[in-house]
Amino acid sequence: MDMFCYQCEQTAMGTGCTLRGVCGKDPETAALQDLLIHIAEGASQYAHRTRQLDVPHREADLFVVEALFATVTNVDFDPKRVAELIQRGAAVRNAVKKAYETACQQSGKQPEPLTKDAAIEPAADIDEMIRQGEQVTIQKRIDSLGEDAAGLQELITYGLKGMAAYVDHAHILGVEDDGVYAFIHEAMAFLAANPGDVDALVAMALRVGEVNLKAMEMLDAANTGTYGHPEPTEVRITPLAGKAICVSGHDLKDLKMLLEQTEGKGINIYTHGEMLPCLAYPELKKHKHLVGNYGGAWQNQRDEFDAFPGAILMTTNCIQRPEDGYAERIFTTGLVAWPGVAHIPADAEGNKDFTPVIEAALAAPGFDKDAESKTITIGFARNTVMSVADKVVEAVKNRKIRHFFLIGGCDGAKPGRNYYTELAQQVPDDCVILTLACGKYRFNKLPFGDIGGIPRLLDCGQCNDAYSAIQIAVALAKAFDCGVNDLPLSLVLSWYEQKAVCILLTLLHLGIKDMRLGPTLPAFVGPNVLKVLVDQFNLMPIKTPEEDLAAMLA
Ligand code: SF4
Ligand code: SF4
Repeated sequence: MDMFCYQCEQTAMGTGCTLRGVCGKDPETAALQDLLIHIAEGASQYAHRTRQLDVPHREADLFVVEALFATVTNVDFDPKRVAELIQRGAAVRNAVKKAYETACQQSGKQPEPLTKDAAIEPAADIDEMIRQGEQVTIQKRIDSLGEDAAGLQELITYGLKGMAAYVDHAHILGVEDDGVYAFIHEAMAFLAANPGDVDALVAMALRVGEVNLKAMEMLDAANTGTYGHPEPTEVRITPLAGKAICVSGHDLKDLKMLLEQTEGKGINIYTHGEMLPCLAYPELKKHKHLVGNYGGAWQNQRDEFDAFPGAILMTTNCIQRPEDGYAERIFTTGLVAWPGVAHIPADAEGNKDFTPVIEAALAAPGFDKDAESKTITIGFARNTVMSVADKVVEAVKNRKIRHFFLIGGCDGAKPGRNYYTELAQQVPDDCVILTLACGKYRFNKLPFGDIGGIPRLLDCGQCNDAYSAIQIAVALAKAFDCGVNDLPLSLVLSWYEQKAVCILLTLLHLGIKDMRLGPTLPAFVGPNVLKVLVDQFNLMPIKTPEEDLAAMLA
């Protein structure tokens, strides 16, 4: 076996990528990512202990968050950049170790021994570093603990990875919470002890869900505090004549900086994938050259970018191996990276110079003519939906709205995801669909109409906006004076990668029951863990749209 990774839904054979990642991750990068997580666990062990002595360590906070986010699916495929993060991580770990020892001396406390070897010094040579990574693979934990306990450890790790993405985005916009950093270190230190007790692991997984709610709230505050609350907006989904830049990923600040740097340059900016909801933020949509959305979800990018006659900027996760046709026109920034793809760095203040992207857009032909105008309406985040809550409640009480469906989550390349299109199409006319994340591309261009002026399809935003959807459900429950589980609301989720994992853990922490999950169940959930999820939460795999719809409406 050359590698082992089963952190995402498209994992090979539904069990694990062992030769090369279906995503394109090679065994060398996989080993380096395993080593990076190991080094981060070491840093967190010291950071957790120093915090207990009231000595937080900012560098450790930021490093561990970046290390976790960098190993999310489709983020960093560049072994050199991962190796640099490992070296930085070892330096941070050694610094926080020193800070811990000093704090112990000052407080007269005996330093606690670490529960696992946290002292691996990464080799200077990348090949040797890869061999070090091969010693700390997931497979070794599966062999020693069995698939249930090892899978639960991974469930916690993946939840932390997803949470780290939210924490990183919020931090970029200046919103942080010390308690969230403290918990991340505590959970990483817990994992470093190689725990095998299933109850303790399940409890920690639910705590990840609990703290992730805070992380999502921080990101919501960061986005809406900086760019205003999303508002209902009709957006163009077909191109206009002219030079063009397509921005994919999730990062609002990158888009804002690019919009400012392209002002008056005759370049149209398009969102792609999960950047679509940016078109509804007042401080972003006020830029008239942010003209619309191009294409669909992340897994279609290789065809769509090949056909795009301009420059492409990947702001966070979602990158796939670039085709030759656009390899010279695609750029990465933030934590996303692909070997050989030009990367736009940030300076010490977080500012970025997008000149290479702009020059590539000006050198490319651009769209030669306006395509036929087509639009969709987006921007139904919590502020908008709550502002019409009275109308919604009245429509339910008058039996004009029978049921709500939340059909949301990730999209992906594997077959079986047309379930979500068919389900949305079969939802009866007196029901409303809430959606979010890139799975919505399966149906967001279909006509759904409205119920007494309330659109039947309400797009709450990115996967990063799951907080908004949760707040809408909580507000509806309050309006009806009941619990979320008592609402006429069914959740049908699609997952792909680790942000979906942390959202699922948050929903479980909130006690949400009867959720349906697809297109397949995670490979890392062992049979006994699945039994816990079924017994305690009645979590179900999706069946057919017809069967599920009948059951949900019964
Ligand atoms: S991230 Fe997914 S596709 Fe990539 S190696 Fe891991 S399991 Fe395989
Ligand atoms: S919805 Fe899921 S697959 Fe899509 S970008 Fe977000 S996390 Fe990734």
